[in-house]
Amino acid sequence: MTDISERQGNSGTADAGRLGLSIVVPVHNEAAGLVLFHARLAEIAKRLKASRGLAVEIVYVDDGSRDDSYAIACSLPADAVDVQTVSLSRNFGKEAALLAGLDHARQPAVMFMDGDGQHPPALIETLVGHWLDGGYDVVYTAKASRSNESWTLRMSVRAFYAAINWGARQKIPEDAGDFRLLSPRATAALRRLPERNRFFKGLASWIGFRQIRVDYEPAKRTHGKSTWNFRSLMGLSIEGLTSFSVAPLRLASLLGLLLAFGAFLFGVQILIETVIYGQSVPGYPSVVVGLMVIGGVQLIMIGIMGEYIGKILSELKGRPVYFVAEHGMKSADKSAQQDPPSRAAAE
Ligand code: UDP
Ligand code: MG
Repeated sequence: MTDISERQGNSGTADAGRLGLSIVVPVHNEAAGLVLFHARLAEIAKRLKASRGLAVEIVYVDDGSRDDSYAIACSLPADAVDVQTVSLSRNFGKEAALLAGLDHARQPAVMFMDGDGQHPPALIETLVGHWLDGGYDVVYTAKASRSNESWTLRMSVRAFYAAINWGARQKIPEDAGDFRLLSPRATAALRRLPERNRFFKGLASWIGFRQIRVDYEPAKRTHGKSTWNFRSLMGLSIEGLTSFSVAPLRLASLLGLLLAFGAFLFGVQILIETVIYGQSVPGYPSVVVGLMVIGGVQLIMIGIMGEYIGKILSELKGRPVYFVAEHGMKSADKSAQQDPPSRAAAE
């Protein structure tokens, strides 16, 4: 696992005394709203610099956008903040984009924030306040209410968190989003987690330290539409479940046990009916039902085990989580430098 130490080389542990914050923004087809978004961030960054002496850097990670998000990100002014632009070689997914941002962040503390305007920039100062004044390490935000969502979605979310937190020492808070701030030591801890299959919400909670929840009402998307659909949400849920809990495996064993117990009772009943009452049990339907139940349960178990084996395989292959196609940097102090496009692999 050489990449852990390599990643740590990029970490903020060495300069934890410095007061600075990197805001990581994953961007996928957000060209329409990026300029406005950046202007709002820059405004807040200016205020933070003036009121708290906090140096702010924004890291835009373009996750294989098909529009000109990257070109726009590169052209954003760096008059109050440092701006880094990282372009991934293709669409790797939000979790990979967040990791790319974490790897490139140069300030000791890191904040993650969506680029679609749903995470209100006005909340940044509140989060920073909890970190600097309250001494919290993980300041995470959670949806204040889910009343505008469908009943089925709410129930699915509840079932998901019940499964993922079953028997877990550190519970992953329900409704927590990806909008969160990590103090320097929490950032350093997050960087030390070596897995490739990442579920950020879970990891940021798992590391521990002092955590605090901030409720917020997500804004409407300023443009475009969400990239999540039923399939990708299912994918993320399976990802989260299998990387954080063995609950599905336990459930499978439990189901097996229940079935075996049921079969035992059924057997006893047959025995009593034939031996004591001399009745002949009709064979065909019971055999078919039994076969189908056992067959179904076995397939489910194989599927669940397959998920975990697939995860082991992908961790074992050890492929980089993302590749960087281009990387640029602009400093607020006007010594603007633009790195030449590189074809470097991920750190
Ligand atoms: N995103 C990304 N890669 C993807 C999909 C989304 O980097 O493959 C970014 C997207 O640009 C946005 C954030 O992740 O900044 C959240 O995406 P989205 O708004 O689609 O998700 P939702 O807010 O509906 O959870
Ligand atoms: Mg969104």
